[in-house]
Amino acid sequence: MTRDRTYKRLSEAEFITKRQFLIIIVWLLATHLAFEVMYLWLGCLPMIIVNIGSILVYVLCIILGLKGVSLTVIWIIVTEVYLHVIFSSIFMGLDCGYQLWLFGSLSSVYFPFFLPGLSGLQKKQIVFFSGVVIATFLVLTALDDLGLLSARYNAPPEVARALYYFNGALGFSAIIIYASIFNKRMMDKNHELQMAANHDFLTGIFNRQRLQRIIDAEIEREQDLPENHLNVAMVDIDFFKKINDTHGHEVGDIALIELANIFTSYEGSGLLYGRWGGEEFLLIAPENMSYNEFGKLLEKIRQQVEDNEFMAGDKTIKYTISIGASSYKKGMSSEQLIDAADDRLYHAKETGRNKVVY
Ligand code: GH3
Ligand code: MG
Ligand code: MG
Repeated sequence: MTRDRTYKRLSEAEFITKRQFLIIIVWLLATHLAFEVMYLWLGCLPMIIVNIGSILVYVLCIILGLKGVSLTVIWIIVTEVYLHVIFSSIFMGLDCGYQLWLFGSLSSVYFPFFLPGLSGLQKKQIVFFSGVVIATFLVLTALDDLGLLSARYNAPPEVARALYYFNGALGFSAIIIYASIFNKRMMDKNHELQMAANHDFLTGIFNRQRLQRIIDAEIEREQDLPENHLNVAMVDIDFFKKINDTHGHEVGDIALIELANIFTSYEGSGLLYGRWGGEEFLLIAPENMSYNEFGKLLEKIRQQVEDNEFMAGDKTIKYTISIGASSYKKGMSSEQLIDAADDRLYHAKETGRNKVVY
């Protein structure tokens, strides 16, 4: 097999944290220890022996689980539950409700089912196992109906009833626990994806894709308004190449973050901002700010950048920015609006840089 050099599994992430995983295993171990006491009390010899096996399995699972979450451990647990259900149904009787554990164990295997790293074979195994679980549930019920399950070690009715409550509650709880862990994981993952899709990796501010969507939506909104108020500006760092060439690319990166921080300090005023690409940033004026006022705000930002000194290692860095602004007129496309700002930015560069043209 060829090595996966795109590291598909990297995007798989953990579907359950190691801690959650260990809690579930320890909980199962505790349940089986309690069962052992009960089996001893009832004098149910076959289950005393079977359950010692179960306890050893969970001790092994804790040791393996400490290394991390793995599908192997999940399969070991699922198999243990499956076998325990069969043996306890046979020896303790169906009235005890052990078969209700099957609901939980089935939901546990569907839980990693949609991971991108899961192979076709692993998916087939899960589907096959589902069929086996459903068939087992039905066969056990049928065998019980036909009176074919041994009654020799059956639990007394009141013990059976108490166990039925316990096992029923446990079967449902397992479904709830797995479903909540899964949904939480999906929500976190979704949030992470939203962040990655909308933000620039280096500076953490909005990326071009997000800015484009904001501008498109704002232009759409402008169509219904009697007066237009959408004002934007394109910002470009002056002689940025020189910062890179003189101090190195990392210092260039810090300079970009520094500028993003300056924009962020205006967030309270309603200014929207993001990285358009390279060392170019797009600003969208606060709502209801006139074009003239926006020009003054841009001048203030430009001045602040000019006055700003920042440290990168032992070096003190200073740089300036040029800005071109434009105002939306009915019928314009987003490209035309941005091009107009770009033209003024070009003009600012041509006429000496470190200035705002609007
Ligand atoms: P001007 O005043 O005319 O804008 O000159 P400039 O040197 O700033 O303009 P130019 O477009 O020639 O250079 C932009 C440079 O920005 C080139 C590229 O190496 C650098 N750059 C783009 N993205 C990044 C980045 O993410 N990090 C760093 N460090 N540099 C970047
Ligand atoms: Mg530049
Ligand atoms: Mg540039």
